[in-house]
Amino acid sequence: MPVKGVKQAPIVVEKDSVTVRGIELKGQWNRMFEPRVIDDYDLTHLDRVAALSGGESIEFCYQCGKCVPVCPVDVVGNYGPRKIVRKLQLGVDLTEDADLWLCTTCMNCLRVCPKEVDMIKIMPAVREQAILDGKFVPPELQKTFENIARYGNPQGESPRKRADWAKEAGVPVPIMASVKRPVDVLLYVGSYPSYHPRGKDAARAMARVLTALGVDFAILGHEEKEDGDSVRLAGEKGLYETLADSTIKTLAKYRFNRIVVFGPHEYNAFKNVYPKFAAENGLAWDYAILHYTQFLAERLDQLTPLLKKPIEITTTFHDPCYLGRHNGEYDAPRRLLAAIPGVTLVEMGRSRENGYCCGGGGGGMWLDSFAGGHQKMRLSERRVQEAVEYGASLLSVCCPYEVSRFEDGVKSTGNDGKLIVRDIIEMIDEAMRAE
Ligand code: SF4
Ligand code: SF4
Repeated sequence: MPVKGVKQAPIVVEKDSVTVRGIELKGQWNRMFEPRVIDDYDLTHLDRVAALSGGESIEFCYQCGKCVPVCPVDVVGNYGPRKIVRKLQLGVDLTEDADLWLCTTCMNCLRVCPKEVDMIKIMPAVREQAILDGKFVPPELQKTFENIARYGNPQGESPRKRADWAKEAGVPVPIMASVKRPVDVLLYVGSYPSYHPRGKDAARAMARVLTALGVDFAILGHEEKEDGDSVRLAGEKGLYETLADSTIKTLAKYRFNRIVVFGPHEYNAFKNVYPKFAAENGLAWDYAILHYTQFLAERLDQLTPLLKKPIEITTTFHDPCYLGRHNGEYDAPRRLLAAIPGVTLVEMGRSRENGYCCGGGGGGMWLDSFAGGHQKMRLSERRVQEAVEYGASLLSVCCPYEVSRFEDGVKSTGNDGKLIVRDIIEMIDEAMRAE
């Protein structure tokens, strides 16, 4: 009975069914005041994901929602593991849903998930199944797979031209097959520094910096191929295995003390993924692997006196997901930036462990058009806006995917003239040049 002066709670009316954005929500699931019964769900699609090798942890989710606010895709759309699990419970087949291709495997959800729901294993497993079942695969990704299978690089460039960048480095860049002796450093260049115009700028800068430091290094030249880690994460496991097998056998022909890589994705492949593949296939793999920022940070005593030209600029730094969260390296790039005279570093809110994602991981590098149709803006565009909001004039990076992604983002968000993008190696190279 209503009590005078006491506001009455609204009467709850349960509808049998409503449809929200094309998904039917049965009334029973809106009864927060009654116990839920797990077998009221149709578990067909959830079970299918959980049955895949790598998909098991999808079943661990208990819908706490911690993953959604940290997911970079949710910032520009409607995403996150919790939402994907919910869709599976509501009868959506993930192998036929656009969400399958949007996860960048950035690992921020796994960092906070109390149940260790591992999207870095789940998504590649479901993508592989979608490919095997002949389901829809975004055409731009298919084209990239074809290019890599045929030419050994995503751009579809001639393998014979892989070392052409070195002709304009201004210093000799030895090639392993020609030096015919052991070297200290095998520099694994990667596809974007080998072929992309801005990547080539960074590769040339790297050659000059290593030469100035007196490092005994060489590259594989046309024997080098795409490492395949992003191919694996995008679901083409067979192609990844072919690439890994080829790279492991090529490297076994030569003698060197360590491998220095340009890219965080190669770093992750060589450090965490190739050892398992090699062991399973009776191949040798026992190398010291360093990202270039780690290699140079170890030589700061030698490097710092060479950095004579001040670069008066306020920069912010974008942590690559596969160097930071996946491999725990946050300090080496910052130590290099701190060594460049004139540079002031401002940190963005989403940095280090909670760093934002450029959108390039997990095959995202080759899915920009597709992802653009399912998000308000690209992740790279959101990150560019953030860098500007924090007052930076320079966005510094150390992943070959990022220079081109962010430079495109600067243009498309109308920030031309406000923000420039540079690889840290380019800044070191510039600071080495006397006025
Ligand atoms: S944080 Fe983990 S358990 Fe919580 S909703 Fe997300 S995936 Fe599920
Ligand atoms: S791995 Fe990254 S992009 Fe994928 S669901 Fe988790 S937080 Fe989102």
